[in-house]
Amino acid sequence: MRQVDHFIAGNSPAATRKHKIWNPSTGEVQAEVALGDASLLDQAVAAAKKVQPEWAATNPQKRARIMFEFKRLVEENKQQLAELLASEHGKVVDDAHGDVQRGLEVIEYACGIPQALKGEYTQGAGPGIDVYSMRQPLGIGAGITPFNFPAMIPMWMFGMAIAAGNAFILKPSERDPGVPVRLAELFVEAGAPEGLLQVVHGDKEMVDAILDHEDIAAVSFVGSSDIAHYVYKRGVAAGKRVQAMGGAKNHGIVMPDADLDQVVNDLAGAAFGSAGERCMALPVVVPVGEDTADRLREKLIPAINALRVGVSTDKDAHYGPVVTPEHRARIEQWIDTAEKEGAEVVIDGRGFSLQGHEDGFFVGPTLLDRVTTDMESYQEEIFGPVLQIVRARDFEDAVRLPSEHQYGNGVAIFTRNGHAAREFAHRVNVGMVGINVPIPVPVSYHSFGGWKRSGFGDTDQYGMEGLKFWTKAKKVTQRWPDGGGDGSNAFVIPTMG
Ligand code: NAD
Repeated sequence: MRQVDHFIAGNSPAATRKHKIWNPSTGEVQAEVALGDASLLDQAVAAAKKVQPEWAATNPQKRARIMFEFKRLVEENKQQLAELLASEHGKVVDDAHGDVQRGLEVIEYACGIPQALKGEYTQGAGPGIDVYSMRQPLGIGAGITPFNFPAMIPMWMFGMAIAAGNAFILKPSERDPGVPVRLAELFVEAGAPEGLLQVVHGDKEMVDAILDHEDIAAVSFVGSSDIAHYVYKRGVAAGKRVQAMGGAKNHGIVMPDADLDQVVNDLAGAAFGSAGERCMALPVVVPVGEDTADRLREKLIPAINALRVGVSTDKDAHYGPVVTPEHRARIEQWIDTAEKEGAEVVIDGRGFSLQGHEDGFFVGPTLLDRVTTDMESYQEEIFGPVLQIVRARDFEDAVRLPSEHQYGNGVAIFTRNGHAAREFAHRVNVGMVGINVPIPVPVSYHSFGGWKRSGFGDTDQYGMEGLKFWTKAKKVTQRWPDGGGDGSNAFVIPTMG
């Protein structure tokens, strides 16, 4: 059986614990991953400490050249990466290409690190005094990532951290760790010194070791909210800088004037693409007014019934299996709960079986109507191919629903009315807003981050926010007196007056 090992400088010790890696399309175990512990992390940290000072002292242009070469290598290997990703995660291969591509876009941004790292300078901030500021790397950073974007999210983190002069230790999801290891191998092939980017596998034991390690300066986490909150608290208590992105329940508001054919097309992709296992999926649709709701429902039903569920290599499939049998069971339980709570199960994806692949972890597309805010199935994240219709009375109701939800990752509004869209974007209490854009993941030179229980900490991923997270600002005030003194009273706080 294929073994996925840690990727650290030096030899990793034989694993005492392992975790199975499924092929969700066939339901077979295709590989095993070694689970590490604190002593393995110590080894990785020691290697990172050795190379980081020299890397930080390497001029940013040379650091950028490694990023350029890495980008070229990832592009050259994209098809294999996408196939490996799809086989471990279950998303269809085309979608896996997108996973790699959205991460590469952050690498492209990191290729511009010399420009992004230019500091600020004020000549003559006081008599004979200049002030300048610069951003310096933190040292060793760590990233803990979820299963659902095994290429994109690691690249969000290590692209920015390493370009800024840090060494980086990645702890990817133990459910699909193959691609993160391949990326680290390609990074060394691109010319990076060994030990600069390392991958340690593990579960809670390794996460705790990272959070407690005194030589790791910063931790970036993406995953579910309870764990994000735990990571945030424990990391901060250990004196680290921490950003921790959590779960989501994104709403799509449909105004009465929206182009419903366009909305149905967008919603089908945003709710069911990647089997709904995206933190920026749209699992809740909020039509405004009963008439809009009825018209939308009528168009949604045939569109959802036409969706093709298939194995991840099926070129015609809209989406593939979910990641594990446990996750499939949890999604089906949520549909049971919704039904018990009084939601109408319009299309039922429970018990779905794909002919020829009966052991795969498939869930059929599910549509629930008349979902209300008091239902647990509305309040919690389902993370599966399940679309819930929550009917809003009016625009105010539609602004209130996502604003009051515990999660605040993304939200979208579909309308032809610019005034309503503008009002909505300004008022809604959610971090990322789409206007007639169902999945508003900002491009790499902006930044990504949700609010409320979707994001703990105050900096976003990638872009200038990412750069800020992975560096600390040094501020220098300088004076070069030409002798004789200026007669000022040194006992009074300087005021530049
Ligand atoms: P998860 O929280 O189960 O796992 C995330 C990471 O935490 C993994 O590396 C895992 O090994 C580790 N982990 C698991 N249990 C742990 C524990 N008890 N203590 C410490 N660490 C632990 O998340 P997942 O199922 O891999 O990913 C799906 C979740 O991630 C969803 O909730 C989704 O919304 C969220 N997500 C959020 C964003 C975002 O940017 N906000 C992006 C992608 C995914």
